[in-house]
Amino acid sequence: MPDVRLEDIAEAGVVGAGGAGVPTHVKLAGKADTVLINAAECEPLLHKDKEVLRDYADGVIEGLRTAMRLVGAEQGRIGIKEKYQDVIDLVQGKCGGRIAVAPLRDAYPAGDEFILVYDVLRRVIPPGGIPLAVGAVVMNVETALNVALAATRPVTEKYLSVAGAVKEPVTLRVPIGITLRECVAAAGGPLVADPHYVVGGVMMGRLEENHDALVDKTTGGVIVLPGDHVVVRRRKQEWVTIARIGRSACDQCSFCTELCPRWLLGHPIEPHKAMRSLGFNLVGESNVIGTSFCCECNLCSLYSCPEDLDPKNVCTQNKRRLAGEKKRWENPPFNPRRPEQHLENRKAPMRRLMQKLGLVQFRNVGPLEDRVLESGKVGVALKQHIGAACVPAVGVGERVRKGQALGRPPLTNGKPALGAAVHASIDGTVTAIAQGVVWIEKSRE
Ligand code: SF4
Ligand code: SF4
Repeated sequence: MPDVRLEDIAEAGVVGAGGAGVPTHVKLAGKADTVLINAAECEPLLHKDKEVLRDYADGVIEGLRTAMRLVGAEQGRIGIKEKYQDVIDLVQGKCGGRIAVAPLRDAYPAGDEFILVYDVLRRVIPPGGIPLAVGAVVMNVETALNVALAATRPVTEKYLSVAGAVKEPVTLRVPIGITLRECVAAAGGPLVADPHYVVGGVMMGRLEENHDALVDKTTGGVIVLPGDHVVVRRRKQEWVTIARIGRSACDQCSFCTELCPRWLLGHPIEPHKAMRSLGFNLVGESNVIGTSFCCECNLCSLYSCPEDLDPKNVCTQNKRRLAGEKKRWENPPFNPRRPEQHLENRKAPMRRLMQKLGLVQFRNVGPLEDRVLESGKVGVALKQHIGAACVPAVGVGERVRKGQALGRPPLTNGKPALGAAVHASIDGTVTAIAQGVVWIEKSRE
């Protein structure tokens, strides 16, 4: 098979499948000494990365080798939780040479790329930086598999975990553009009368009220929970309530800061000061509390705070305001000694996190169902990535084949804008193009 090129990766529409949606050909255009495969998957109840790695270890390693060649890396590492010893044994048997497995503790947020880079390489990405700043490129397991296949197969399918209050927790392989409702039905359906869908994970994901929302290239999982579950209640809390209770109940114990993964990396973020600032007219300034460097992991709100307050939302409100005002903290200071002093001791163990979140009642499994789920109709979004929405390359009424390009990034001065192509995920006819979605219905023979 010919070597996969950056052009192949762009044309195949490969983007970060772990949730970020960064076009992979852009990421792999840089130079780095290490490529890290992120199989840490620290969101509770999600299993798809481990399952894909188990079933497609050769493909994932091939994608890793391709990425190493493209960025000029000397070494490749696969970061996976040490508790998955069976997968580690399997993968280790296929590695060798410049590629090795890096076992990780079962803690949250092991999959945050700043934490992963530190845990595996002992390098601290500076505040506001990216892994490339310390010579690393981080790729999700599924992204690596898509890279390996890029010369022969565009991205038309997605793996995702369906878990929580469903009959059969599972990792599914689905056509992009299928609805969340169909995915939940494939897991045997909800076990509760008032199912709520948390998309992407209970810690960092979003509560999705539209159960017919569409799966895209970044959808990693759907967790079904009853309406009175603590995770759902916390997601539904309104900002005025968060701010009012936070202002009156925060006792400035600073646990939110002491356990914040970014503070532990030495970054200048102090969520307890963001809470303190609620008592003033403006919610803090970036050069006082460093909210711009919050990774929105939610640990402070859902784990650290003994009062069940919401410093994460206070930080993100402030972060968005600062971004809107284009305020940046130039050359933020950081303390590179702090990780070696505190990080290891203060990691949040998954078991404790699951108990605190009321998740231990759910089956924590997600075996891979590798048969592609059938759907008679899909809606493929023209923007499933960071960057510009694609310009449609098909028209209503046109028959399309699975894998055919439906849209490509717009051209600016003759060059494609930041983005990635999108493709038909089933054979069928384009029935509508509306609100940034190309709808395809399966042809009736
Ligand atoms: S952990 Fe909670 S109570 Fe303590 S400072 Fe942070 S927000 Fe306030
Ligand atoms: S969400 Fe909280 S714990 Fe996580 S990085 Fe932001 S401030 Fe720190």
